[in-house]
Amino acid sequence: MPGAFDIRRDELASLLSNEPGYRTEQVWKGLWERGLLPGDMTDLPKSLRERLGTALEPALHEVARSVSSDGQTTKWLWQLADGRRIETVLMLYPDRATVCVSSQAGCAMGCGFCATGQAGFDRQLSVGEIVEQVVEARRQALPRRLSNVVFMGMGEPLANYDRTWSAVQLLHSNLGISARHITLSTVGVVPGIRRLATEALPVNLAVSLHAARDELRDQIVPLNRRYPIAVLMGACGEYLAAKGRRLSFEWALIDGVNDAYRDASELAELAQPFAAHVNLIPLNPTPGYATLGSPPHAVSAFRDWLRCLGVNATVRANRGTDISAACGQLASREGSVALTPRPPARATRASATLDSPTSATLSSSG
Ligand code: SAH
Ligand code: SF4
Repeated sequence: MPGAFDIRRDELASLLSNEPGYRTEQVWKGLWERGLLPGDMTDLPKSLRERLGTALEPALHEVARSVSSDGQTTKWLWQLADGRRIETVLMLYPDRATVCVSSQAGCAMGCGFCATGQAGFDRQLSVGEIVEQVVEARRQALPRRLSNVVFMGMGEPLANYDRTWSAVQLLHSNLGISARHITLSTVGVVPGIRRLATEALPVNLAVSLHAARDELRDQIVPLNRRYPIAVLMGACGEYLAAKGRRLSFEWALIDGVNDAYRDASELAELAQPFAAHVNLIPLNPTPGYATLGSPPHAVSAFRDWLRCLGVNATVRANRGTDISAACGQLASREGSVALTPRPPARATRASATLDSPTSATLSSSG
């Protein structure tokens, strides 16, 4: 049987064919409008609730949930029906509530600086496994309204294109999240970007660039060897021309690797023609990557260089670092990314994450 949020309405109707006609609408609304699993739908007769509870199991089983010290960030570690594990992060801001969802269990793209990449690929997530993350986050966010969804958790959404896109359509049509509040982040899967340009819904596109010359990007992002920067920029141009949505470039600042003036000026040359927004993220430390994030003064200098070069750049706050909920720190398998101490030179910046008992609990098991 499919998971609760994998079932289509016509499938639900046939499952309920021996019930009064209104039940399909009632259960459908319970799922999508109220975010309830059948077992929690107390307005259903007990026997039906039990039958549906077995037929439509939740896809996600909570292994651990941790909340940051300021209460504004929540991270879940979920176990899927086959025992695989994924993570979801909810971030509350004054003006919006954003959930960061996983699109795959693991990732095959092999970016060395990313905890998910270090752990390798397990499998694609189903539509329901993606959607249920949003449903759970929506419930947790109450009484705030969950407004934004970003595909920046584990996995490469455009390498799971069909399911990701079906999930986007359901978020839009059934959960009322507008396309302009949905962002797909990609490491540069060019055929996926081109396909996205042909879809009806205009979602935001974020491209994880990290380097603006092939020689360096080939090393940081292995997929660049397949789709080099010029080809990637061509696809970005197609997307912008078709959709008119804002394009953003993600840039994890890696100490001594991509944080020099030369890098800023090369990035500016790529960003300017698209008026792309640049999100700078100081690299979060991960166990399998020796180099650390750029120090704060280098991050500010890089941002200021970009601004002087006419590029709209912001430094993204590392939400949830005390619970290892920050970008690149999402990992799934027990023991796959055991925390190890950082080299002493940078130990102070890494310590908030590494020393937190909560993060140790979650990151060593996830
Ligand atoms: N696979 C997609 C989406 C998931 S990764 C992509 O790569 O875009 C989401 C973002 O986190 C990407 O911008 C990625 O480059 C970034 N990221 C990964 N590891 C990181 C780390 N250790 N520190 C900071 N950002 C990281
Ligand atoms: Fe995959 Fe994105 Fe991590 Fe690269 S950065 S390994 S594409 S999740």
